[in-house]
Amino acid sequence: MPVKSGSEYIERINQNLPDVWIGGERVQGPISEHKAFKGLMATQAAMYDMQHDSESQSAMVYSSPVTGHPVGLSYKQPKTKKDLVLRRQMMQSWANCHHGFLGRSPDYMNTAIMAFSAAAGVLKEKYPQYAANLKRYYEYCQENDITLSHVFIQPRAGRVTTFLRTFEEPETARVVEKNKDGIVVRGAFLLDTQGATSDEILVFPPPFSLSVDEESPYAFAFAVPSNLKGISYVCRESFVGGESSYNYPLSSRFEEMDTLVLFKDVTVPWDRVFVYGDENMASRLMEESHFHTHTGIQIMCKNIAKTEFLLGTIEMMVDACGLDNHDHIIEKVTEMIVAVETLKAFQLAAENGASIDRWGSMLPNKKPLLAANVYFQKMYPRLIEIIQLIGASNLMLILDEQDFNSEISDQLNQYLKSIDVDAKKSVQLSRLAWELSVSSFGGRQAVYERFFFGNASIVNKRLYNEYEDSRHKYVDRIKTFLS
Ligand SMILES: Cc1cc2nc3c(=O)[nH]c(=O)nc-3n(C[C@H](O)[C@H](O)[C@H](O)COP(=O)(O)OP(=O)(O)OC[C@H]3O[C@@H](n4cnc5c(N)ncnc54)[C@H](O)[C@@H]3O)c2cc1C
Repeated sequence: MPVKSGSEYIERINQNLPDVWIGGERVQGPISEHKAFKGLMATQAAMYDMQHDSESQSAMVYSSPVTGHPVGLSYKQPKTKKDLVLRRQMMQSWANCHHGFLGRSPDYMNTAIMAFSAAAGVLKEKYPQYAANLKRYYEYCQENDITLSHVFIQPRAGRVTTFLRTFEEPETARVVEKNKDGIVVRGAFLLDTQGATSDEILVFPPPFSLSVDEESPYAFAFAVPSNLKGISYVCRESFVGGESSYNYPLSSRFEEMDTLVLFKDVTVPWDRVFVYGDENMASRLMEESHFHTHTGIQIMCKNIAKTEFLLGTIEMMVDACGLDNHDHIIEKVTEMIVAVETLKAFQLAAENGASIDRWGSMLPNKKPLLAANVYFQKMYPRLIEIIQLIGASNLMLILDEQDFNSEISDQLNQYLKSIDVDAKKSVQLSRLAWELSVSSFGGRQAVYERFFFGNASIVNKRLYNEYEDSRHKYVDRIKTFLS
């Protein structure tokens, strides 16, 4: 089966009928018609349509090594620098479509499953069946253009009980039974962004080293259809303000729902198990797949699109208010320009410094990517602060589109116009800046950028550890200098 279209994506999700809860009620009927998911799914459908559009298709797909059908380029294992460039261009096209607001656009997990599968050799000697499962699953995802979500984290209760060992019945997610059909999993995971709008879910929590047994019930990785019996998705409050793209330019289109996923004794079939029982193997697969490096390129595409979007917005705000001759305004806009250029430079450095790893993948240079993760986590809140500092009271001028159809519209048109911008367009720009920097949608984006790849300590440590050789090299240089 070749790449899917937008309507195929929507049809498949609607037929899937996973157990989704929102506001204490189970979602009934087609997910794509529900106000919490409608805009997001329309955006993602447009992205999938780019795989069929005659103008964009050639940049979005490649020929499947298995069937020869066109399949998504973000599934492709990069083996040359040219592959890296083509993959990056494809992912940048999708990122430009959602302007960086979809952290978990499908190319993220397409890349992840490619990375895990390429490193299946880690499992091969000890667990050849799991290695084969992983390879087969990657092929299945690629050939069927599966939309995949993931969970790597558990709620705090699960983590605390592993530390304290206080409860007889630990909350930590675990395998409670093994039988001829598969492993039976009980527990909770978070945050499954897009869990309700994906075909399947990949579950791969870090093992907690709780078990001294050889076979740890806490070490597992698997992927299953999102509608498998016993799985429930509990949505947070929706941040979609409404359907109007004038009133809610961002949340009406890009509100990715985050869910808590509950596994109530779910039987995961053996052919979908990638790791079971071996904590060391679970850690090795995560580490040696270079998951963080491969997905790092997709993340950079998102961050570049998002920062360019912020820069365009702030430039319009500055022009509309005639602020471009103030030094401190220029300084703030320049901060955004530096952010865009820095991200692009990191991206190219990672690509140019790529080398072949032991799996035959052209692996981007980790250092600039990990540095970019640290940089953007700190920079994004500052970029949003700049929108607030320049936007000021305009961020509160979020009149409704309907106000311009009311009997007071003449006065609004008179008093709310800006330089070269009529009142209605000026309020529209205010609403965009408000959604970015004040709304619950904007707040969630900021929290996302701070945590989606781990908390700041973890993100810093990844770079610090990767830099060990360089750190020692520079110490030696100083020693030589001092002597
Ligand atoms: C909007 C959003 C969407 C996400 N989507 C997904 C997804 O789809 N799939 C997925 O797997 N993950 C996702 N994540 C990431 C994941 O859910 C966690 O948020 C992330 O890993 C951070 O974990 P945490 O929230 O438990 O915070 P923690 O890591 O617990 O951090 C909270 C605070 O405690 C501090 N802290 C924690 N431990 C220590 C310690 N040992 N010593 C000192 N300080 C400590 C941290 O520094 C931080 O300040 C998402 C996150 C967000 C915010």
